[in-house]
Amino acid sequence: MGVENPLQSLTEQLTKLPGVGPKSAQRLAFFFLSLSMGEVREFAEVLVKTRSSIRYCSRCFNIAISDLCFVCANPARDRHSLCVVSESKDIFAVERMREFRGVYHVLGGLISPIDGIHPELLRIAELQARLQSESVSEVILAINPTIEGDTTVLYLTKLLKQYPITVSKLAYGLPVGSDIDYADEMTLQKAFQGRTSVS
Ligand SMILES: [Zn+2]
Repeated sequence: MGVENPLQSLTEQLTKLPGVGPKSAQRLAFFFLSLSMGEVREFAEVLVKTRSSIRYCSRCFNIAISDLCFVCANPARDRHSLCVVSESKDIFAVERMREFRGVYHVLGGLISPIDGIHPELLRIAELQARLQSESVSEVILAINPTIEGDTTVLYLTKLLKQYPITVSKLAYGLPVGSDIDYADEMTLQKAFQGRTSVS
Protein backbone atom coordinates (compact mmCIF):
# COMPACT_ATOMS: atom_id res chain seq x y z
CA MET A 1 0.00 0.00 0.00
CA GLY A 2 1.48 3.32 -1.07
CA VAL A 3 1.77 6.30 1.20
CA GLU A 4 -0.57 9.10 0.24
CA ASN A 5 0.67 12.57 -0.67
CA PRO A 6 -0.35 14.58 2.41
CA LEU A 7 -1.05 17.66 0.28
CA GLN A 8 -3.07 15.89 -2.41
CA SER A 9 -6.58 16.88 -1.37
CA LEU A 10 -5.55 20.49 -0.68
CA THR A 11 -3.76 20.89 -4.03
CA GLU A 12 -6.77 19.31 -5.77
CA GLN A 13 -9.00 22.01 -4.29
CA LEU A 14 -6.55 24.79 -5.12
CA THR A 15 -6.27 23.81 -8.80
CA LYS A 16 -9.98 24.67 -9.05
CA LEU A 17 -9.02 28.34 -8.64
CA PRO A 18 -8.89 30.35 -11.89
CA GLY A 19 -5.39 30.57 -13.34
CA VAL A 20 -3.94 28.09 -10.85
CA GLY A 21 -2.15 25.09 -12.31
CA PRO A 22 -0.64 22.13 -10.38
CA LYS A 23 2.65 23.96 -9.72
CA SER A 24 1.01 27.10 -8.28
CA ALA A 25 -1.40 24.92 -6.31
CA GLN A 26 1.51 23.22 -4.62
CA ARG A 27 3.12 26.59 -3.84
CA LEU A 28 -0.17 27.80 -2.32
CA ALA A 29 -0.53 24.57 -0.33
CA PHE A 30 2.91 25.14 1.22
CA PHE A 31 1.93 28.74 1.92
CA PHE A 32 -1.08 27.50 3.93
CA LEU A 33 1.21 25.14 5.84
CA SER A 34 3.33 28.14 6.83
CA LEU A 35 0.36 29.85 8.47
CA SER A 36 -0.64 29.36 12.09
CA MET A 37 -3.73 27.24 12.85
CA GLY A 38 -5.53 30.45 13.83
CA GLU A 39 -4.77 32.10 10.49
CA VAL A 40 -5.88 29.04 8.52
CA ARG A 41 -9.10 28.86 10.52
CA GLU A 42 -9.77 32.56 9.92
CA PHE A 43 -9.17 32.11 6.18
CA ALA A 44 -11.56 29.15 6.00
CA GLU A 45 -14.20 30.91 8.08
CA VAL A 46 -14.12 34.08 5.94
CA LEU A 47 -14.46 31.93 2.82
CA VAL A 48 -17.51 30.07 4.15
CA LYS A 49 -19.07 33.20 5.70
CA THR A 50 -18.67 35.29 2.53
CA ARG A 51 -20.04 32.58 0.29
CA SER A 52 -23.03 31.87 2.51
CA SER A 53 -23.98 35.52 3.04
CA ILE A 54 -23.88 36.57 -0.64
CA ARG A 55 -27.15 37.34 -2.35
CA TYR A 56 -28.16 39.52 -5.28
CA CYS A 57 -29.19 43.17 -5.11
CA SER A 58 -32.94 43.39 -5.72
CA ARG A 59 -32.45 46.43 -7.96
CA CYS A 60 -29.31 45.88 -10.06
CA PHE A 61 -28.40 42.19 -9.39
CA ASN A 62 -24.91 43.03 -8.20
CA ILE A 63 -23.67 40.80 -5.38
CA ALA A 64 -24.86 42.10 -2.01
CA ILE A 65 -25.09 41.16 1.64
CA SER A 66 -28.49 42.81 2.16
CA ASP A 67 -31.44 43.73 -0.06
CA LEU A 68 -29.48 46.44 -1.89
CA CYS A 69 -25.82 46.35 -2.98
CA PHE A 70 -23.26 48.93 -1.86
CA VAL A 71 -23.90 51.04 -4.97
CA CYS A 72 -27.72 51.07 -4.87
CA ALA A 73 -27.68 51.70 -1.12
CA ASN A 74 -25.51 54.81 -1.58
CA PRO A 75 -27.75 57.93 -1.85
CA ALA A 76 -24.88 59.93 -3.39
CA ARG A 77 -24.90 57.85 -6.60
CA ASP A 78 -26.37 59.47 -9.72
CA ARG A 79 -29.48 57.52 -10.67
CA HIS A 80 -29.76 59.20 -14.08
CA SER A 81 -26.73 57.33 -15.36
CA LEU A 82 -27.04 53.55 -15.66
CA CYS A 83 -24.09 51.37 -16.60
CA VAL A 84 -25.02 47.94 -18.00
CA VAL A 85 -22.49 45.15 -17.40
CA SER A 86 -22.40 41.41 -17.97
CA GLU A 87 -21.28 40.27 -14.51
CA SER A 88 -20.81 41.67 -11.00
CA LYS A 89 -17.03 41.45 -11.41
CA ASP A 90 -17.26 44.10 -14.15
CA ILE A 91 -18.84 46.51 -11.61
CA PHE A 92 -15.79 46.05 -9.41
CA ALA A 93 -13.53 46.79 -12.40
CA VAL A 94 -15.44 50.01 -13.20
CA GLU A 95 -15.44 51.02 -9.52
CA ARG A 96 -11.65 50.62 -9.31
CA MET A 97 -11.39 53.36 -11.92
CA ARG A 98 -13.21 55.84 -9.58
CA GLU A 99 -14.67 57.75 -12.48
CA PHE A 100 -18.27 56.58 -12.80
CA ARG A 101 -20.72 57.92 -10.20
CA GLY A 102 -23.91 56.38 -11.55
CA VAL A 103 -25.61 53.04 -10.88
CA TYR A 104 -25.43 49.63 -12.57
CA HIS A 105 -27.45 46.80 -14.04
CA VAL A 106 -26.03 43.27 -14.22
CA LEU A 107 -27.29 41.23 -17.19
CA GLY A 108 -26.04 37.91 -15.85
CA GLY A 109 -24.19 36.94 -19.04
CA LEU A 110 -24.02 37.81 -22.72
CA ILE A 111 -26.08 36.67 -25.68
CA SER A 112 -24.51 33.56 -27.21
CA PRO A 113 -26.93 31.49 -29.33
CA ILE A 114 -24.26 28.82 -29.88
CA ASP A 115 -24.17 28.22 -26.09
CA GLY A 116 -27.96 28.42 -25.84
CA ILE A 117 -27.87 31.83 -24.14
CA HIS A 118 -30.73 33.77 -25.68
CA PRO A 119 -31.82 37.28 -24.62
CA GLU A 120 -34.69 35.88 -22.52
CA LEU A 121 -32.16 34.21 -20.21
CA LEU A 122 -30.54 37.55 -19.38
CA ARG A 123 -31.97 40.25 -17.10
CA ILE A 124 -33.13 42.38 -20.01
CA ALA A 125 -36.81 42.48 -19.00
CA GLU A 126 -35.62 43.70 -15.57
CA LEU A 127 -33.56 46.39 -17.30
CA GLN A 128 -36.61 47.53 -19.25
CA ALA A 129 -38.68 47.61 -16.07
CA ARG A 130 -36.08 49.88 -14.49
CA LEU A 131 -36.10 52.21 -17.50
CA GLN A 132 -39.89 52.49 -17.06
CA SER A 133 -39.85 53.13 -13.33
CA GLU A 134 -36.57 54.97 -12.69
CA SER A 135 -35.46 58.37 -13.98
CA VAL A 136 -32.61 57.11 -16.17
CA SER A 137 -31.38 59.50 -18.88
CA GLU A 138 -28.21 57.72 -20.00
CA VAL A 139 -27.40 54.04 -20.45
CA ILE A 140 -23.74 53.10 -20.86
CA LEU A 141 -23.09 49.63 -22.25
CA ALA A 142 -19.82 48.58 -20.58
CA ILE A 143 -19.57 45.21 -22.25
CA ASN A 144 -16.51 43.23 -23.30
CA PRO A 145 -15.56 43.67 -26.98
CA THR A 146 -16.02 40.00 -27.85
CA ILE A 147 -18.37 38.33 -30.35
CA GLU A 148 -20.93 37.72 -27.58
CA GLY A 149 -20.42 41.25 -26.25
CA ASP A 150 -20.95 42.83 -29.66
CA THR A 151 -24.07 40.71 -30.26
CA THR A 152 -25.46 41.87 -26.90
CA VAL A 153 -24.61 45.53 -27.56
CA LEU A 154 -26.33 45.34 -30.96
CA TYR A 155 -29.43 43.71 -29.46
CA LEU A 156 -29.68 46.22 -26.61
CA THR A 157 -29.04 49.20 -28.90
CA LYS A 158 -32.04 48.22 -31.04
CA LEU A 159 -34.21 47.46 -28.04
CA LEU A 160 -33.41 50.67 -26.17
CA LYS A 161 -34.28 52.92 -29.15
CA GLN A 162 -37.87 53.09 -27.88
CA TYR A 163 -36.79 54.95 -24.72
CA PRO A 164 -36.04 58.69 -24.57
CA ILE A 165 -32.49 58.09 -23.33
CA THR A 166 -28.94 58.38 -24.58
CA VAL A 167 -27.30 55.00 -25.15
CA SER A 168 -23.53 54.82 -25.45
CA LYS A 169 -20.92 52.10 -25.55
CA LEU A 170 -17.32 52.07 -24.45
CA ALA A 171 -14.75 53.40 -26.91
CA TYR A 172 -12.46 50.83 -28.41
CA GLY A 173 -9.36 51.66 -26.47
CA LEU A 174 -10.12 48.18 -25.16
CA PRO A 175 -8.45 45.49 -27.28
CA VAL A 176 -10.88 43.31 -29.23
CA GLY A 177 -11.62 40.08 -27.37
CA SER A 178 -10.51 41.54 -24.05
CA ASP A 179 -12.16 41.35 -20.67
CA ILE A 180 -13.15 44.56 -18.85
CA ASP A 181 -12.15 42.89 -15.61
CA TYR A 182 -8.54 42.58 -16.79
CA ALA A 183 -8.26 46.05 -18.35
CA ASP A 184 -5.99 48.38 -16.44
CA GLU A 185 -7.62 51.44 -14.88
CA MET A 186 -6.15 53.87 -17.41
CA THR A 187 -7.40 51.90 -20.44
CA LEU A 188 -10.85 51.49 -18.92
CA GLN A 189 -10.98 55.17 -17.97
CA LYS A 190 -10.15 56.16 -21.57
CA ALA A 191 -12.79 53.75 -22.87
CA PHE A 192 -15.33 55.37 -20.55
CA GLN A 193 -14.41 58.96 -21.32
CA GLY A 194 -14.38 58.29 -25.05
CA ARG A 195 -17.71 56.43 -25.02
CA THR A 196 -19.70 56.88 -28.19
CA SER A 197 -23.41 57.36 -28.54
CA VAL A 198 -25.15 54.53 -30.38
CA SER A 199 -28.69 55.89 -30.24
ZN1 LIG B 1 -27.56 47.22 -6.64
